[in-house]
Amino acid sequence: MIVKTTEFIKSGTKPAHYPEGDLPEIAFAGRSNVGKSSLINVLVNRKNLVRTSSTPGRTQLINFFQVNQDFMLVDLPGYGYAKVPLDVKRNWRPMMETYLSKRENLVGVVLILDIRRVPVDEDLQMLEWLRAFSIPPIVVVTKCDKVSKNERAKQSAVIMQRMGLDKGDLNYFSALSKEGKEGIWDRIDALLAK
Ligand code: GDP
Repeated sequence: MIVKTTEFIKSGTKPAHYPEGDLPEIAFAGRSNVGKSSLINVLVNRKNLVRTSSTPGRTQLINFFQVNQDFMLVDLPGYGYAKVPLDVKRNWRPMMETYLSKRENLVGVVLILDIRRVPVDEDLQMLEWLRAFSIPPIVVVTKCDKVSKNERAKQSAVIMQRMGLDKGDLNYFSALSKEGKEGIWDRIDALLAK
C-alpha cells in the first residue's frame, strides 16, 4: 500500500464509540512497550502519528486512524504493564473481547511480540480470541535489531512453542532498520483484498 494520508478519527472504549461506515479495520495489539507505536509510525511513514509511550498502559482507549480511503488502522490499548491501576486492568478484557467479537469491520489483527521476551498470558489470550472469532492474525516479532542471528532463532523457538505457531507465522521487524516493513504491508494488503 502507498500511504498518502493518515488521519486520527476518534478514540473510544465501547461499540457506541466505534466509527460509523464500513471501512475495513486492521487492529494492532501488544503488551505495553513492545514497540507497537514504533511499528505503526514506520508503516505509515510518520514520526509521531502514535505517541511512543513514556507512561505505558495509562491510556486504555481504542484509537481509530483512517489510512487513505482504504482502511481504518486501529490502535488497541497496550497490556501487561504492572503499574496500571487495577480497575484499568479489569476493563481491558471486556473491552478487547467486545471489540474483537462484535466489530464486523475488523478483517485482521497485527499481534506484536518482542523477540527478546517470552509471550505473556495476555498475548496468548489475544491469539485465543482471534482463533475463536476467526480473525486472521499477523504476528510481528519486533526489536529484531537487538539480537544476533543465533539469538533470533533461539527466541523464535521459544515464541512458537508458547504460542503454538509455525515459522511461517512470524514476521520479523525492526523499527530501526525497517526490516520487515514490506512483508507486513503485503500481509495487510492481502487481508484488505479479501
Ligand atoms: P509501545 O508502548 O508498544 O507503543 O512501544 P513504543 O513504540 O513506544 O516503543 C517502546 C520503546 O522501544 C521505545 O523506547 C522505542 O524506541 C523502542 N523500540 C520500539 N521498536 C524498536 C525496535 O524495533 N528496535 C529498537 N532497538 N527499539 C525499539
